[in-house]
Amino acid sequence: MSLLLPALHTESDRTALRFGERTLSYRRLAAAAGETAALIGDSGRIAVWATPALETAVAVVAALQAGVPVVPLNPRSGERELEHVVADSAPSAVLAEPEAELPEVLGGTPRIDVVVSGEAETTTAWSLAPEPNAESAALIVYTSGTTGSPKGVVLSRRAVACTLDALEDAWQWTADDVVVHALPLFHVHGLVLGLLGPLRRGGSLHHLVRFSPEAVASALAGGGTMLFGVPTMYHRLAEALGSGPEPARALSGARLLVSGSAPLLPADHRRIHAATGRHVIERYGMTETLMNTSVRADGDPRPGTVGVPLRDVDLRLVDEAGNRISTDNGADAEAIGEVQVRGPNLFTEYLNRPDATAGAFDGGWFRTGDIATQDADGHLRLVGRKATDLIKSGGYKIGAGEIENVLLSHPGVAEAAVTAAPDPDLGERVVAWVVPSDPAAPPLPEELADFVARQLAPHKRPRTVHFREDLPRNDMGKVLKRALTDPPEETPAPGG
Ligand code: ATP
Ligand code: MG
Repeated sequence: MSLLLPALHTESDRTALRFGERTLSYRRLAAAAGETAALIGDSGRIAVWATPALETAVAVVAALQAGVPVVPLNPRSGERELEHVVADSAPSAVLAEPEAELPEVLGGTPRIDVVVSGEAETTTAWSLAPEPNAESAALIVYTSGTTGSPKGVVLSRRAVACTLDALEDAWQWTADDVVVHALPLFHVHGLVLGLLGPLRRGGSLHHLVRFSPEAVASALAGGGTMLFGVPTMYHRLAEALGSGPEPARALSGARLLVSGSAPLLPADHRRIHAATGRHVIERYGMTETLMNTSVRADGDPRPGTVGVPLRDVDLRLVDEAGNRISTDNGADAEAIGEVQVRGPNLFTEYLNRPDATAGAFDGGWFRTGDIATQDADGHLRLVGRKATDLIKSGGYKIGAGEIENVLLSHPGVAEAAVTAAPDPDLGERVVAWVVPSDPAAPPLPEELADFVARQLAPHKRPRTVHFREDLPRNDMGKVLKRALTDPPEETPAPGG
């Protein structure tokens, strides 16, 4: 245990966790987790019904202590998705808070209630547990299913520890930091960074249970030092800056504002910076690799990039022919390639999918499926995903993200997504999906198309522009481009 969470042995009365109004010291967390660990016994794998509750955090710590791999379940996933995860991971039991109502698909899985009584003081069960092997699985986390069906990603204790230590270095993360967030605990962002991160440091997590700009402001005003969020949360915070001085004051008091999981809107970055003097720093990672890059706390924020590779992470860009197009330091900023990574942060395998695991690697390099450009000094700029965002049009390779960013800089555009559609002349053509800032007066399609062509290049001009009320997104705020194929009324942008 000590490999992963050494601070749990400190018997300290410092606050480890706060969920809403409920708090737990390190001493009581170790005791409560020890009691639950004793109930887990010799399981193969254990599922955790990952509601945003103190019990979920205790359950995860308990399973790690018992040396049993944790499969976090998303309580909001649909029945079919949950059925897939349960059948695939075959947990021997599910840990849940006593109040939780579990769905029918979990009917066949024994349930263990996690009770945090506050009475427990002894850590005997805890200290008796043998130290699990560093290569053994700590977590089996299912991917977000943005590009296909979710895959169970097996993460070793070592991978988790290495990624957290690299972030400690990048962000000068200490035991004095109080991390504030409202992220779900079934995804690596909230689970690894947001929960295990503070606990590994001996610091503290203040989980808001439910996100609101007011809750963030009050947690930061009450001692929070680092805020972790997804772009939709920063968008709501940026909007709230207009409501009075408190949000800006609270955000400026934080030591670090960090965004990840999806692209941060450049306009939100600018608004928050203008009002608070703070840059929201972006980090880039994924279930399979945990964290790959980040802006360093003392570094150059370079808006629009996700920073430089973390310590211990080797990163390269590879073109379609499989040739490396980056050097050890960076690349020609024009060259688009797939991001491939190597390092101790990588996952062990996809559960039950040896073919998918083998196909995901090129030698020791993991193919992330993300496409990016890189500055000469290493700052990575994501332009999308190989599967959905690399548009091959008229002999050019175009990254959807670049066009999305230009559309987003148009005052008439609130949200934008760009996809490819088959085209008899061009092979593929650029299609834009736009949520107008004012639905009653959307900009003209050709105005948007011209706006893109002027700022980028004529071949990046959207040939079709669709207006929508919103974009389909998953729980992490990622746009589900698969759902953007259904053509409503075509609105061609003439003159392209
Ligand atoms: P699936 O693999 O099932 O299709 P997914 O890739 O969305 O789903 P995750 O592992 O949760 O599942 O997400 C990782 C992906 O999120 C990355 O590969 C990248 O595309 C995107 N991402 C992560 N951080 C950022 C960021 N800071 N900016 C833009 N995109 C990001
Ligand atoms: Mg993925």
